[in-house]
Amino acid sequence: MSYVVGVDIGATYTRVVLADRDATIIDREKFTTPRESPSAPAAAIINAIREMLKRNGIRESSLKGVGIGSIGPLDMRRGIIVRAANLPLENVPIVEPIKQALGAPAYLVNDCVAAVIGERFFGAGRGHDDLVYITISTGIGGGIYVNGHLLLGKDGNAHEIGHMVVDSEGKLVCGCGKRGHWEAYSSGSGIPKLAKLIAERRPELFQMSALALKGLSGVTSKDVYDAAKRNDPFAIAVVEEAQRYNAMGVANVINVYDPSLITIGGSVALNNVDLVIRPLERLVPEYAVNRMPEIRATQLGDDIGLYGAIALALGLEKLP
Ligand SMILES: [Zn+2]
Repeated sequence: MSYVVGVDIGATYTRVVLADRDATIIDREKFTTPRESPSAPAAAIINAIREMLKRNGIRESSLKGVGIGSIGPLDMRRGIIVRAANLPLENVPIVEPIKQALGAPAYLVNDCVAAVIGERFFGAGRGHDDLVYITISTGIGGGIYVNGHLLLGKDGNAHEIGHMVVDSEGKLVCGCGKRGHWEAYSSGSGIPKLAKLIAERRPELFQMSALALKGLSGVTSKDVYDAAKRNDPFAIAVVEEAQRYNAMGVANVINVYDPSLITIGGSVALNNVDLVIRPLERLVPEYAVNRMPEIRATQLGDDIGLYGAIALALGLEKLP
């Protein structure tokens, strides 16, 4: 028997899974992404893989490949994470140390690219050559297939859709430091900023809100969506404005890439499907010129990127 490993490197956690040739996940590990030195993340991944192989009675020679989806930006050709938002490390080598330690090929892509690969081979994307995956989580990102080709870009970073400008007035500042980016308005980190903006614009509405008790500085994206579900008028105003920005971002993607299917994941979207994903069908046509694609929540949940990593390790998708 031969086996593969899928890895998901996040700013907070790294997850490692062992899968068989049919992409069935047979074991999992999860640990805090090490941040003490640039060599620490790969060393921790190698350890986790070795332990998993050992406890499942699998020889290292049976390992046929390791696929990795990671926070970026990356230098795909060198197999490194150049630097990562929320991780105090630069030039983190991933591919070479794993290859050398385990004697198996290793493939590194951006986490949203891994996700769209997962969707194409194991999710709703089967049978779609023109497919977009969008995550609405702490940030906003995307992975894209056009005519069956995976889009990567010169360094593997061709998918920073969260940094598309959706507000020419630039009312909010993005985590990247620039103004008017989609992610600044309706991601998990953007919603609190949008709430502040709307509270300034409509103080009377905010004063009546359950969120006023908490004070604006402590309000999270989850607080806003939970309050909207309880029909809090201020929270609904924030959520409706976020829906506008999401519709603009999704319409931009449709106008540029013309997909037949868009799947959406990420905690903000998947925990609030009725408030984040459903309204897109109604709002996106106001901004899109291309024929509307199907838009739906991913069914692969949190594991979507791991499935993409497994597909890479199995050689189902080949990198240039
Ligand atoms: Zn930005």
